[in-house]
Amino acid sequence: MAGTRTFSILKPDATQRNLTGAINKVIEEGGLRIVAQRRIQMTQGQAERFYGVHAERPFFGELVEFMTSGPVVVQVLEGENAVARYRDIMGATNPAEAAEGTIRQLFAQSIGENSAHGSDSDENAALEIAQFFSEADIVG
Ligand code: GDP
Repeated sequence: MAGTRTFSILKPDATQRNLTGAINKVIEEGGLRIVAQRRIQMTQGQAERFYGVHAERPFFGELVEFMTSGPVVVQVLEGENAVARYRDIMGATNPAEAAEGTIRQLFAQSIGENSAHGSDSDENAALEIAQFFSEADIVG
């Protein structure tokens, strides 16, 4: 494997505006390889499990509703320091605070509808990847 892996979701605000290719271009130009990718409609159960750590947060219901409001693209990204690199490529959670040229600065609509998810640690990346992909789906 060339480097490490992270898990990515292109969120419903992105797929709804036909931005999959535009965001993938930013990912690839940022030095990560898309080694697995699938477009899915998340169920409420999948979204609740995926964002389980946020279950007590006031925006949890809104987040689950948003993530199931349309198709998402789940991805595995690979490269050197993939987790940290993808968080740099995505930019801050709130697009108003996201650095120039980041996915969220370029495309996000609000702190909730912020176009992309990326894992926050290698440990969570492995758990998140396993929720949506088997090893046979990932071709580096
Ligand atoms: P991330 O790691 O940058 O995605 O940020 P967090 O782990 O803090 O939050 C997870 C996701 O919850 C974010 O990407 C947003 O989609 C959503 N979120 C975070 N804060 C808020 C908020 O204040 N309001 C709403 N509606 N959604 C939020």
